[in-house]
Amino acid sequence: MEKIKMSTPLVEMDGDEMTRVIWRMIKDELILPFVELNTEYYDLGLPNRDATRDQVTIDAANANRKYGVSVKCATITPNAQRVEEYKLHEMWKSPNGTIRAILDGTVFRTPIQIDWVKPVVRNWKKPITITRHAFGDVYKASEIRVAGKGTAQLCFTDEAGNTTCETIHQFEGPGILQGMFNTDQSILSFAHACFQYALDVKQDLWFATKDTISKKYDHTFKDLFQEVYEQHYKEKFQTAGIEYMYTLIDDAVARVIRSEGGMVWACKNYDGDVMSDMLATAFGSLAMMESVLVSPDGCYEYEAAHGTVTRHYYRYLEGEKTSTNPVATIFAWSGALKKRGELDKNEPLVRFGEQLAQATLQTLNEGIMTKDLIGLCEGITPRAVNTEEFIAEIRTRLTERLK
Ligand code: NAP
Ligand code: MG
Repeated sequence: MEKIKMSTPLVEMDGDEMTRVIWRMIKDELILPFVELNTEYYDLGLPNRDATRDQVTIDAANANRKYGVSVKCATITPNAQRVEEYKLHEMWKSPNGTIRAILDGTVFRTPIQIDWVKPVVRNWKKPITITRHAFGDVYKASEIRVAGKGTAQLCFTDEAGNTTCETIHQFEGPGILQGMFNTDQSILSFAHACFQYALDVKQDLWFATKDTISKKYDHTFKDLFQEVYEQHYKEKFQTAGIEYMYTLIDDAVARVIRSEGGMVWACKNYDGDVMSDMLATAFGSLAMMESVLVSPDGCYEYEAAHGTVTRHYYRYLEGEKTSTNPVATIFAWSGALKKRGELDKNEPLVRFGEQLAQATLQTLNEGIMTKDLIGLCEGITPRAVNTEEFIAEIRTRLTERLK
């Protein structure tokens, strides 16, 4: 078979520990034999981030802006222990945080479903994608522990020096206070990212807040989403045969549980934090989640949602062949190659991306999987394999599919 060519480079962000090992295996076994891989490579492994004083992370994010599509390996976010372990110059910031700040993105997470791992919610037939607004609200709030009697006010001073105040509460004794904010700009770009993504995957979009109680704060989210929908997406949604629905957050939770799945669920920051963990657990595990960051101007960053699987890496260093699940990382590659192909009108590359995902699902559905999934299976006696064997099984099926 002639190798598939790529006209535009894919931005490749390498990472750390066990996922860096798996990254290499995936490239060698599942991609390079089939694709004349054209990537612009950035080594985001912690030693190189330290050597470049984290400049490599910024360069990688800017390359993502330039070319539109990247694939990222899991990376260590250093803490005090890592500073010691890697003898770092500084406790570098989270690479994901740096990249998100440059791309101004929203993260979309979708479970990868197989026949033998049934969602805890029995009527869920299709995956549910959660999109989380990752800016402001309680994550950037100011808080005060009120010691005793007094008046709490909410004040805003404009550029001309005019101040507006509202009394929040007359405290008769100790209590607590919190002030949070968001900006129209951030909410609007979140809305665009959600509508664009729903169009991309041709699924309904749900959005929910508590606007009946929060008549200015949450109501603004609701209004801005509606405005963006009417002005930019209503006709496109009608053409694509999909719907936008706004409802109250408690109603959304009830509806999601009763649904068959198959929708994109946009959540405010806190709701998304809580609900995405609930969904990941109910569908299986983090190693079986697709995760993509989409920017409002249409840049894509594909990644695995889990970390660098440190405990497995230490065992690997001692010579053990670990059974680490590479599915989320394989899906990051397949998603990125497919998107690169779509943007370049490169049909063979699109097809390759799809077949890579299909060959992985086929292997799992034939009962061959890594150890972490074995305990979750029902209705089959699965065969546990190590990562290398699992990837070899996928390669056999992929080769067959590409004939
Ligand atoms: P983790 O790497 O996700 O691993 C936590 C545990 O979950 C593992 O020990 C393993 O359990 C299980 N697990 C996760 N992914 C797995 C996979 N693919 N296959 C099999 N089992 C898997 O989280 P962590 O140990 O808290 O974090 C390790 C490092 O990753 C940290 O330095 C953190 O900063 C970084 N991190 C990076 C990202 C990212 O770049 N996207 C995200 C989160 C964390 P068992 O050991 O019980 O088998
Ligand atoms: Mg959480």
